[in-house]
Amino acid sequence: MDEFALIRRLTERRTRTGAALPPLAVGIGDDAAVADWPSGSQIVMSCDTMVQEVHFKRVTMKDSDVGYKAMASNISDIAAMGAIPRYALLSLSAPKNVPVSRLDNLYEGLYECAEQFGVTVAGGDTTSTPGEIVLAVTIIGEIEQGRALVRSSARPGDAVFVTGYPGCSAAGLHYLLGRQQAADSIGELTQPYRFLVQAHQRPQPQVKAARMLLQSGFAGALNDVSDGVASEAAEIAEASGVGLLLEEGRLPVHPDLAEYARLASREPLDWILGGGEDYQLLGTVRPEGVNELAALFSRHGIPLAIVGEVSERFTGVRLLRRSGAIEPVDKRGYNHFDN
Ligand code: ADP
Ligand code: MG
Repeated sequence: MDEFALIRRLTERRTRTGAALPPLAVGIGDDAAVADWPSGSQIVMSCDTMVQEVHFKRVTMKDSDVGYKAMASNISDIAAMGAIPRYALLSLSAPKNVPVSRLDNLYEGLYECAEQFGVTVAGGDTTSTPGEIVLAVTIIGEIEQGRALVRSSARPGDAVFVTGYPGCSAAGLHYLLGRQQAADSIGELTQPYRFLVQAHQRPQPQVKAARMLLQSGFAGALNDVSDGVASEAAEIAEASGVGLLLEEGRLPVHPDLAEYARLASREPLDWILGGGEDYQLLGTVRPEGVNELAALFSRHGIPLAIVGEVSERFTGVRLLRRSGAIEPVDKRGYNHFDN
């Protein structure tokens, strides 16, 4: 199949599924795409690349999962600014002899996630490579002028929050790597594996949660949890010039994570602090907004936990253990990992 036929095959079939996506003035097929841009808003841009054998392996992810997650991780970066994802560009490098069905599946996942979050695929690039599949996604979003939620706006006295259940993706990965079975051939999984594997393969970027935060007016700093709670908290602490005190007893532990950790003789805390790829949100809120936000999130069924507070008395991240001891946490997570 020549390159043009391949591009048409990958992009044409699913561009008009009836989802209300932002329209393009000039779409796929010309030298570049053209989109209208609303006045009073700012453009938010990011890109992320997935390389087979580096970011995913065939035992951990089906091709459709890879596509889904590539789009999801990009959308998550837009969510982490409080913005709305609008357009995506896809750069695909694939070995010449790759079965087209693999690319079909990759694009199936890409489009599934794009449509779920209202993102229009505006174009991309296609090349062959002597190596493994590389998929780079560029994402473009929109935000109200001057409202972006940055890492540097945590203030002493803010509460630290997290959405969802960080650590589940890393636990799911641990399970998949232990099985060493092609991801395509894994049938229906039972608890506690199902939720964890789902968290790893199909993470849900928190666009709605971030928009609710922004609109509440109570938001401080915001990050998405791509590298584990410890690392995200450290980034906020550093950018804001403050300390973040996390409380072990308040970090949310999903029951399936607790159960799997028990079976695998691991500490849930290690995965929560040092895992990654959860694409939940970690941030700070002004203290006067905590109750209102908690009620708002609960009405919308989005798990939100207050897990600590911002302090001016130290810098970096510290963990208040259940014992009452306070320990420093490094970027890679709790210091268990060093032993
Ligand atoms: P050019 O030679 O002008 O760079 P291309 O042949 O690379 O054009 O691309 C033709 C059209 O197909 C463009 O609209 C481009 O954005 C789109 N496109 C190319 N590759 C991909 C891809 N892998 N996924 C989505 N769209 C693509
Ligand atoms: Mg091109």
